[in-house]
Amino acid sequence: VNEHTVDVAIIGAGTAGLNARREAEKAGRSWVLIEAGPYGTTCARVGCMPSKLLIAAADAAHEVSFAGRFGIRVEGGWDVDGRAVMKRVREERDRFVGFVVRDTEALPAEQRIRGRARFVGPTTLQVDDHTRVHAKAIVIATGSTPWVPPVLADVADRVLVNDDVFDWEDLPASIAVFGTGIIGLELGQALDRLGVHVSFFNPFDQLGPFSDPAVGAKAREVLGDELDLNLGSKVHEVVPDGAGVQIRWTTAEGVEREAHYDTVLAAAGRHANLDGLDLAVSGAPMDDRGRPISDPQTLQLGDLPVFIAGDVAGHRPLLHEAADEGRIAGANAARFPFVTAATRRTSLAVAFTDPQMGIVGSRFADLDPDTIGIGEVSYDDQGRSRVMGKNAGLVRIYADCRSHRLLGAEMFGPRVEHTAHLLAWAVQQQLTVNRALTMPFYHPVVEEGIRTALRDLAASLKLTNRCPPEDCADSPGM
Ligand SMILES: Cc1cc2nc3c(=O)[nH]c(=O)nc-3n(C[C@H](O)[C@H](O)[C@H](O)COP(=O)(O)OP(=O)(O)OC[C@H]3O[C@@H](n4cnc5c(N)ncnc54)[C@H](O)[C@@H]3O)c2cc1C
Repeated sequence: VNEHTVDVAIIGAGTAGLNARREAEKAGRSWVLIEAGPYGTTCARVGCMPSKLLIAAADAAHEVSFAGRFGIRVEGGWDVDGRAVMKRVREERDRFVGFVVRDTEALPAEQRIRGRARFVGPTTLQVDDHTRVHAKAIVIATGSTPWVPPVLADVADRVLVNDDVFDWEDLPASIAVFGTGIIGLELGQALDRLGVHVSFFNPFDQLGPFSDPAVGAKAREVLGDELDLNLGSKVHEVVPDGAGVQIRWTTAEGVEREAHYDTVLAAAGRHANLDGLDLAVSGAPMDDRGRPISDPQTLQLGDLPVFIAGDVAGHRPLLHEAADEGRIAGANAARFPFVTAATRRTSLAVAFTDPQMGIVGSRFADLDPDTIGIGEVSYDDQGRSRVMGKNAGLVRIYADCRSHRLLGAEMFGPRVEHTAHLLAWAVQQQLTVNRALTMPFYHPVVEEGIRTALRDLAASLKLTNRCPPEDCADSPGM
């Protein structure tokens, strides 16, 4: 058994782990980076980047299929060459992965350990059966794995997850997507637009990341017109059928349905990669579901020299947050026992569906409805959106009724990837509604819709004056 004694041991060479390593290096500490799987990160290999490549192909197909509305005829018809689509996805994906692998392999070989790590002491790790690492501090950055719902148990050997999709040589004729969260919708809508017959299944009514019922309802209406959603459906069985699966279900309206699909994708959420880590050995505080409790500003587990970052931490499972958390955890591990609390950015999440989805700052569900004003804009008739033939959506923005500061937004509409950034920056700058309205808005752009929502918000704060009186806010009968 090889023995290593280091200042900082990092488990996982994904985005969070690589950023943690950089901080240990910057602080002049000795480190090792332990990785059980291939280098290249989830984002580049099976996450953000290949999914956006697939969506880019779907966007192209969608533009062509709607060109007629602008008077553009595509002579002789058009079709989707599934092999060519997947070839570009794989090649571009490999290019992105290549850069990460190259940079990771450029790190000193003796500090890179290949294998699966587990705790055998509070700060001692065993990697497979070949290496033991004694560290002053440890960063856990082990990422997350798709969760396969129990209803797919009978076809477990043929269930695909996102990782599999990006290795396809060709597109299937049909696919059943279990889950209507961001990943399921992004992949499923893209495949649908590339000509694959796609059905979505969700026992609940939830579509995308929305907690605001009005925005959620709009998304269900718009996407329900395009996609076979089956929200609130009850799946009775999923059984092998030839090389594919047969699914029998009852729709929310009580209609019995049965259909064959070439393949099935589990996109019903992801769980933290904690299995086999023997984290309890570290003495980490756990919640009642066995998940480690960490402070989102220090990423420390209790007062231990153990830190957790990225998807596995469960705070904000997004790429830029994994990078931030890696830096915070890495810096704190390097300077342990001197731990500092970092200020986190305003939260921002985007789904690259069409229309796009965005959550900025505080979600509707996390706000007290009695202490906020709400402004909204419908994108159904917004000028520039109509010009582009992309006029569908609803954006709702929330502000504090007393300070009039912007708090957050839930967004469904065209080019939300950009408008969500504007609002996230405004929230982080603690702009009031009126201050945001002093900013320039060009014409004609989708941002003018955001101005409409801000004006609506200013009016709602002024007119409704819903703030409870300060001194007696909690008094009964007020
Ligand atoms: C399909 C899809 C699309 C996405 N799209 C976006 C997007 O558009 N924008 C966005 O912001 N985010 C997106 N995400 C989320 C984003 O990819 C993740 O939040 C991010 O990659 C998490 O990084 P990480 O460092 O936590 O984990 P990872 O990059 O997964 O790294 C964890 C590493 O730890 C290793 N490991 C696990 N256990 C052990 C062990 N015991 N010992 C040693 N090594 C171990 C794993 O092999 C892995 O390499 C997407 C995710 C998916 C799946």
